[in-house]
Amino acid sequence: MNTRFCEQCGEETTHKEVMKQKPSKYGKSKKEQFKAFLEGFFSGSAASLPAGASLELTDRYIVCTKCGKQTLENHGEEFQ
Ligand SMILES: [Zn+2]
Repeated sequence: MNTRFCEQCGEETTHKEVMKQKPSKYGKSKKEQFKAFLEGFFSGSAASLPAGASLELTDRYIVCTKCGKQTLENHGEEFQ
């Protein structure tokens, strides 16, 4: 849980973090999935993420628990 300013509420509200998987540009096969994993790994984007998650494949949203507004939050590593 995080307290953030919500533009819709116009005040500081509690937000929760939601990870949504992007439609993958890779195929569904194991081989393609593995390729996707390797690409994420070697680009360094997977280093700071939980296993299986990739920046390229995942959109991170913060959701206001008061009004439900979703804000895309893909930038920055300071948000925890
Ligand atoms: Zn709100």
